[in-house]
Amino acid sequence: MLEIQAAVARTPSGPFTIEAVQISGPRDDEVLVKIAGVGLCHTDIVFKDQFVPYPLPAVLGHEGAGVVEAIGTNVHGVAVGDRVVLGFSSCGTCPRCDEGLPSYCRTFVPLNYAGQRLDDGSTALAGGDESIASHFFGQSSFASHAIVRQRNVVKVGDTKADLALLGPLGCGFQTGAGGIMRSLACPAGSSLAVFGGGPVGLAAVMGAVIQGCSIIVLVEPVAARRDIALSLGATHVIDPSVEDVTAAIRSIIAQGIDFAFDTTGNIGVIDAAMASLGSHGAIGLVGVPKNADASIAVNIAQVMTFGHRIIGIIEGDSDPQTFIPELLQHHDEGRFPFDSLIKTFPLSQINQAIADQARGDCVKAVLIPDT
Ligand SMILES: [Zn+2]
Ligand SMILES: [Zn+2]
Repeated sequence: MLEIQAAVARTPSGPFTIEAVQISGPRDDEVLVKIAGVGLCHTDIVFKDQFVPYPLPAVLGHEGAGVVEAIGTNVHGVAVGDRVVLGFSSCGTCPRCDEGLPSYCRTFVPLNYAGQRLDDGSTALAGGDESIASHFFGQSSFASHAIVRQRNVVKVGDTKADLALLGPLGCGFQTGAGGIMRSLACPAGSSLAVFGGGPVGLAAVMGAVIQGCSIIVLVEPVAARRDIALSLGATHVIDPSVEDVTAAIRSIIAQGIDFAFDTTGNIGVIDAAMASLGSHGAIGLVGVPKNADASIAVNIAQVMTFGHRIIGIIEGDSDPQTFIPELLQHHDEGRFPFDSLIKTFPLSQINQAIADQARGDCVKAVLIPDT
């Protein structure tokens, strides 16, 4: 048992509270990581607010990075002192994991969302006699330390980027970049419109530049974020609060775009994106909707006639063990400046960071534990 600092979610829609809690030592297949920094992701908030039922109190956080402090007896290939990024959990043995698509692991949902160990229902965290849900995305990293499963751990070698800022590569940035580079696999010369200029959308813009897309449109109401997109290599930006989005896209490319990428989960936005697709166009959906039962309507004849494809995407179809090192290589060679999108806050200011990120004052918040 170790006493650690953590941001605890106690009530839906309530603030996080900074508390001293106890964390158990690593079991045979677990790793104890001292967190250097953890990204704040929209998914943390929607789970706290019970988008789907989630056990509270809980320590959330799923974009951690840090240094390995202890390992279980069955952990191999990871050593104390290793610098690591924490990805999502997957089993490593099902058919989806075997084909390199661990974000569609057949036990993805319980491994990432159960808030406990699956073998005996225990949690790694406690506040005195009170059990606190752990293992969110296999990590629960809104804390100074996290107990994670071995498969969550991605070792990072030497990189020019600051270790404390690497955590969002394990979710938001890999989702955006992977959505373009893996899921949609946009070829060089293709056209793309990205809907929403948050961390996922801006990572998608960077991914599109890496792929060599010739038209990269960002649709985003916040002017500062449109400016960032242009600086990252977007060729066009559209302000949906003053422009008809579909008409604006068709004025850029009359026959419609090859690819659309929705990070908003907003039905009206997805309808506009679908209406912007050209022949054999594909739309990738990564935005979590406000309500878990939100649905879009598609015109069957339209989808068939134009060969449109609608693709749901989790984590950019990434295998973190290979994709995170690949993104760091792009970063170090100047093609993936993800760290320029990050603003840091002390973990104790998590509620302030949430407010700033919601207002659009910062693109991506990373929380730094105080201890
Ligand atoms: Zn699996
Ligand atoms: Zn996330």
